[in-house]
Amino acid sequence: MKEDIKSYLLPELTEKLAEMGELPYKALQIFRWLHSGAASFSEMTNLSKDLRARLEERFYITVPEVAQKQVSKKDGTIKYLWRLRDGNCVESVLMRYRHGNSVCISSQVGCRMGCRFCASTLGGLVRNLAPSEILDQVLFTQKESGLKISNIVLMGIGEPLDNYDNVLRFLRLVTDENGMNIGMRHISLSTCGLIEKVDKLGDDNLQLTLSVSLHAPDDETRSRLMPVNKSCGVDELLAACRAYFKKTGRRISFEYAMIDGVNDTPRHAKLLADKLKNTVSHVNLILLNKVSESNFSPSSRENLEAFIGILRDNKINVTVRRRLGGDIDASCGQLRRKSMSS
Ligand code: SAH
Repeated sequence: MKEDIKSYLLPELTEKLAEMGELPYKALQIFRWLHSGAASFSEMTNLSKDLRARLEERFYITVPEVAQKQVSKKDGTIKYLWRLRDGNCVESVLMRYRHGNSVCISSQVGCRMGCRFCASTLGGLVRNLAPSEILDQVLFTQKESGLKISNIVLMGIGEPLDNYDNVLRFLRLVTDENGMNIGMRHISLSTCGLIEKVDKLGDDNLQLTLSVSLHAPDDETRSRLMPVNKSCGVDELLAACRAYFKKTGRRISFEYAMIDGVNDTPRHAKLLADKLKNTVSHVNLILLNKVSESNFSPSSRENLEAFIGILRDNKINVTVRRRLGGDIDASCGQLRRKSMSS
């Protein structure tokens, strides 16, 4: 079986090339080609024909195909549906901000977390993405759009901490100075809160931003929305978040999707403020995106405003996430779902 060359870190690639009787600078040349989006060994014109043929024999290069592309007329957001080697599809979204371009990428094909409001989990988990396939979303979004990417958010399809090793390897690849060289501080990772993995990530002590999808301050509400909460509740999760901050010094961002009549009452707001009192944090509110398969609806403007007011009165940092790409199904798993059913 051929090996996935783009999933190797530079020292590993150097070792592979040494096995083939080649000097380290060859590995560096190949690494640079791969990380600038080369689609085949034949493009690597500074390598000998003989070496290219031997590489071809031993390795393959992942190249996702654009299965669909949607561009928002409102704000220029671009959504890609990528077809992978085995025919599975994942999504990435390129968002354009004044401070630079950001790409939201997927970490798995499907998801097994089962959050009740999320389109990505409806068909369950199909498989993990390889490090190369996660990286490709950044590489080929940049290549295809012609827009330089400066920020990455791991907030697309899948639970990144459920694919821990591949995601960590991706992070090491994308931050490599010989590759895309994106700073860890320009990367956010969003999790539904797998506590052991949050602990592990804290030990790995990366300077990325951790976002935790909280969505409710109490176990009753959170377990109703997110099955993951049944095995370890809100208090345990928040304790893990405080420990994470202690280890890394990085403030945690809590995601909170406002759902009409479910988690958006003044009682929820007060409880949330209480629970976050001793946590260095930032709350990111987002109005729920309606998913046709679920009965939940977004909160009213009044409830949103009241909720913000209570958090601010209690000195909690809070912002409302601006919605981009509302006209192009640019949220979690919606495009993949549509392509599966059509
Ligand atoms: N599995 C990770 C990352 C993927 S989801 C996680 O759970 O964090 C990215 C974010 O979008 C999460 O905060 C998720 O809860 C939220 N989300 C999912 N479906 C949504 C919807 N319909 N409306 C608003 N936010 C949603």
